[in-house]
Amino acid sequence: GHFKFYYANDSDLQAMQYTQEHEQQVEDEMYGALARREFEAYYQPKYNIETGEIMGAEALVRWNHPTRGVLSPAHFIPVFEANGFVVQLDFYIFKKVCRTLAGQFKNNEPAVPVAVNFSSRHFANPGFADEIRRIAELLSVPPSFLEIEITETVLMENWDETITQTCKLREMGFSVALDDFGTGYSSMGVLQELPVDVIKIDRSFINRDLSEHRNAMFITGIVNIARVLNLRIICEGVETREQADFLKKNGVLFVQGYYYSRPVSEAVFKEMLIKNKS
Ligand code: C2E
Ligand code: CA
Ligand code: CA
Ligand code: CA
Repeated sequence: GHFKFYYANDSDLQAMQYTQEHEQQVEDEMYGALARREFEAYYQPKYNIETGEIMGAEALVRWNHPTRGVLSPAHFIPVFEANGFVVQLDFYIFKKVCRTLAGQFKNNEPAVPVAVNFSSRHFANPGFADEIRRIAELLSVPPSFLEIEITETVLMENWDETITQTCKLREMGFSVALDDFGTGYSSMGVLQELPVDVIKIDRSFINRDLSEHRNAMFITGIVNIARVLNLRIICEGVETREQADFLKKNGVLFVQGYYYSRPVSEAVFKEMLIKNKS
């Protein structure tokens, strides 16, 4: 008993030290990683459920680490959110996406609008929308090909500035999506005040047993509200045929999830777009 007790405590401590070490390592390496271009944009296609065509994509950051392999955001985004580095990283990914789109236009390759994730930290910055426009103009990408994803749970921090920046972005022609819809404190309140183009239904809603009326009603309810408010809806995290069928039956036109495609590298995504058009 004693041994086990101490052993358990000891490994807890080790786990904690490991976490702190991991955070420290991530912080020590982040500037170098940016300079060495280790951060990459992966693309997860979004599909029109009726036609099966790719109608857009979401850019998702990956860290192509020299010794630890391709790291997903869970390993570093929380650290970067805490220390503010996420602001630089988001702009870096946004520029990468713009360059890719510009290249596609230039070479007459197929292209679809791309959504980029932005930390709530940006929305405290009164110059955010102007900076987004400056970058898009500089890289010759029309705003209609760019979507800005905001997560509602963190919106509340700078509410007035968030509304101001969102309105500016939309006036400039960018579309704005409310990410992880339904998981925050006051999704409905947010929708009432914040003028967005798109709501992304969080995957936790589609992951429930949809044969249960109660669960199904959450999705059909959101669909009805979106219709009234004239918003586009996309459902994320679609993993099964059953889920896809349910969404089709209930008027969700746009989907994203492992059932259709995982996030893929830029090269693979470009190939998918070429097949998509032919
Ligand atoms: P998110 O914005 O909600 O992105 C969707 C996440 O769900 C992605 O995880 C995606 O790979 C995953 N996903 C997509 N389809 C499925 C599915 O069918 N099943 C399951 N289980 N998961 C699915 P990922 O790429 O690991 O990103 C995690 C989070 O990291 C994102 O959640 C977003 O909040 C954040 N993130 C990613 N890239 C960026 C970025 O460039 N900037 C910022 N600020 N945050 C980012
Ligand atoms: Ca997102
Ligand atoms: Ca999401
Ligand atoms: Ca999320």
